[in-house]
Amino acid sequence: MNIVILTGAGISAESGLETFRDQGGLWSQYDVEDVATPQAYARNPALVHEVSNLLRRINRTANPNAAHFALADLESRHDGNFLLVTQNIDTLHQRAGSRNVLHMHGSIEVALCSDCGHTWPAPDEMSEDDCCMVCRKNQCRPDLVWFGENVRFLDEIEAATEAADLFAFIGSSGEVYPAAGLMELAQESGAKTVEINLHPSAVASAADEVILGPAGHVVPKWVEKTIHSAVL
Ligand code: NAD
Ligand code: ZN
Repeated sequence: MNIVILTGAGISAESGLETFRDQGGLWSQYDVEDVATPQAYARNPALVHEVSNLLRRINRTANPNAAHFALADLESRHDGNFLLVTQNIDTLHQRAGSRNVLHMHGSIEVALCSDCGHTWPAPDEMSEDDCCMVCRKNQCRPDLVWFGENVRFLDEIEAATEAADLFAFIGSSGEVYPAAGLMELAQESGAKTVEINLHPSAVASAADEVILGPAGHVVPKWVEKTIHSAVL
């Protein structure tokens, strides 16, 4: 049995990380056009680094919640293929014990040289003056997919989605493509599709089952039910 899970900002909400659409939080203080686009980085790299350094500090002080741990448990108890695709840039899945994780929008904990493509673990604070140790240029940026850039691992993610028997879409508004299109692809390819969200997403019509509630509460229950009902 092949399992593919796709998570979004909602799975990390109970760990204290604000979702993109939370009112009054971090994302209402900044315009994404100023901090999360290649043009913003060209215009004002210091501001882009300042915000990503803040996001990295927040990631490091947050802890995984029961939903992250339940998905790690599902992976460790499952005999077949298991892929966890996340739109999140935080590293809470790995810290909960998940192993096969693809960050389709990049990771706040990785630094990238925009000149030669070399990547390395991000330091506490990055700046536009940091120097790449391979090409010696100073065009270092966080390894994040900014608006207008291509997502990572799309071929691999689509192939796994087409081969999935069970596809779960967790804590995502379903408004950011191509991630939002994956549940429909899974359903068309014959997978059983499940959405777990606080509110139904924009793509909930592609879910065979929709479970509403806070992820930390409902994901562990869904994992237990899945483990007991399926021949994993
Ligand atoms: P989103 O902010 O657009 O939507 C969040 C979704 O989570 C909503 O559907 C909401 O109903 C649901 N939700 C909120 N609290 C929840 C909870 N406790 N339990 C279950 N569901 C809950 O997030 P998105 O769809 O992931 O897209 C936003 C983009 O911004 C993505 O690219 C994402 O990577 C990025 N982002 C990442 C983080 C992070 O890394 N933690 C945080 C904010 C935004
Ligand atoms: Zn380089």
